Amino acid sequence: MSTLHLHCHTLFDGTSLDTRPQQTLVVDNGLLSYVGPRSQAPTPQPGDKVIDTGDGFVMPGLVDVHTHLAFGNAQSEEDIDIWTTDEFRALRGMFFARHVLAAGVTSMVCPGDSGQLSISVRNAIAAGMFEGPRIAASSRVITNRQSLNDWFPSRVGTPDFFTARLVTSRSEALAEIRKQAKDGVDLIKIAMDGTHRRPNGEIIAAFTAVETHEMVEEAHRLGCKVATHAYGREAVMYAAKAGVDLVFHAFYMDDACIEALLEAGSILAPTMTFPQNTVDFCQSHDPAITTGYAGYCARTLEVGSAILKRAKAAGIPFACGSDSGFAVTPYGEWHARELELLVTRIGFSPAEALYAATAVGARCMPRGETLGTLQVGKQADFLMLDASPLHDIRVLQDRSRIKAVYKAGQAVDLQRSPYNPKQVSDFNSLKWTDLYTRDRVAQLGKWSL
Ligand SMILES: [Zn+2]
Repeated sequence: MSTLHLHCHTLFDGTSLDTRPQQTLVVDNGLLSYVGPRSQAPTPQPGDKVIDTGDGFVMPGLVDVHTHLAFGNAQSEEDIDIWTTDEFRALRGMFFARHVLAAGVTSMVCPGDSGQLSISVRNAIAAGMFEGPRIAASSRVITNRQSLNDWFPSRVGTPDFFTARLVTSRSEALAEIRKQAKDGVDLIKIAMDGTHRRPNGEIIAAFTAVETHEMVEEAHRLGCKVATHAYGREAVMYAAKAGVDLVFHAFYMDDACIEALLEAGSILAPTMTFPQNTVDFCQSHDPAITTGYAGYCARTLEVGSAILKRAKAAGIPFACGSDSGFAVTPYGEWHARELELLVTRIGFSPAEALYAATAVGARCMPRGETLGTLQVGKQADFLMLDASPLHDIRVLQDRSRIKAVYKAGQAVDLQRSPYNPKQVSDFNSLKWTDLYTRDRVAQLGKWSL
């Protein structure tokens, strides 16, 4: 592999919030061997490749800590768990992993998947069989009765092909964690919110504090990180007290939770992109509108933004996650929107958002100490842009501005193969989105006596 010399007009290396002008990166065998002033850079040898990025902006590759490779741009929970076979889901996940990489995401955490999907995609990419981002793999979400992912009636339960693994005792929970660790996951995902609420509206956690502690302790003992879905105050508190590494959402936490998260050293990834896209993009005929779900998303973002601002002020590290894999967050499309939302909703500076999406996100990855910043000895995962995201954070969402994506010093193919969503994603059997009573059709002017 030849040596690459990359001259950068502006470099954001992820070690701080600063940029440096006129820098050079030298890449040997996929690793950075020099990062520093162009004037002091080693002289290219015959056969070396030299790239001058002109007046471009170079930064570490993005880390999306919340992408579901199994979901297949799902329109519903049935889409996630029922339609399609495991084999098809794996092929589809492999296909979409390339779209994620082409969007500038060189590392992603897959918190919650079916079977061994993200483990297999991770391994196939690592073996050089396919192009794709680095992956922190998980398996089925550990769920309890009435918690997220146990979303079908009790008589359905969670068959083996579901993205959830319902555990109904502490010993079942520990056994599942041990199985997933044996299968090779990097992290365990726990669904901490229940669907039941107290009379005051507060979400009741799906697991007790003791159960949560036991699960997290066992996952850590086996070398796995732990991520949790936690909107509610109680869920966030139990997660923090148990030492969960990565907490998603936290929209309804309180100041005591912020203290507990700080003490635990947990990383927070609000993952606002999913609710914000739901609010902004849904059309009047979408069930998200007719059921009031989009309104709930809007209220959640309003309430959540206030407490998340306090969490930022308190010094909790934030990472960027998009919840890609739903119809409202298709793969390869919205990963960088979370940076924009950190800026507009939580008051991050653009440089702070870049730091969250690179240096902090890398801490959630296996061998994260080799990722997320552009320093000697680290992986040469970086983006070349022809505009500065420090002037407008939205340039990371503009494909025409991303001139190149490098993973391990290799330029990534930015072409994304088109696909037919009817044959890839839209398998559900939904036929009607309204209830056609006589009054309703008369109201619609379609029928009268
Ligand atoms: Zn998610």
